[in-house]
Amino acid sequence: MFLAIGVSDSEERLEYEEGLMTCGVCGNYGRYEVYLVCSVFYLFFFPVYRFNYRYYVRTTCCNSVYELDPEVGEAIENGERVIIRERDLHILGKGRAHKKCGYCGYETAEDFEYCPKCGNKL
Ligand SMILES: [Zn+2]
Ligand SMILES: [Zn+2]
Repeated sequence: MFLAIGVSDSEERLEYEEGLMTCGVCGNYGRYEVYLVCSVFYLFFFPVYRFNYRYYVRTTCCNSVYELDPEVGEAIENGERVIIRERDLHILGKGRAHKKCGYCGYETAEDFEYCPKCGNKL
């Protein structure tokens, strides 16, 4: 008999449309993107059971990743208007801000002192 049982992770972006914040990591203006990740138990390719819910936040300015307080995450998932504060977040990984050349507009996440495209100082 063939049994198709499996567990995989699913990721879903939640609606969170608050305004710009000042990023505690890179100091630039950015937005929070909120993600819900859960593990899904599959039986015959149908999701039958979801568990291990986690909420993550990613910043648009430097791609830093935070774990979000589950209570706040649930409120966002339920469509409540909440504002994410820094104390709701636990940093998991710091990202790096994109540098943008003021002369030619070239964007890079590397730590170049001079623009690799046009040679002007960044
Ligand atoms: Zn940032
Ligand atoms: Zn340039």
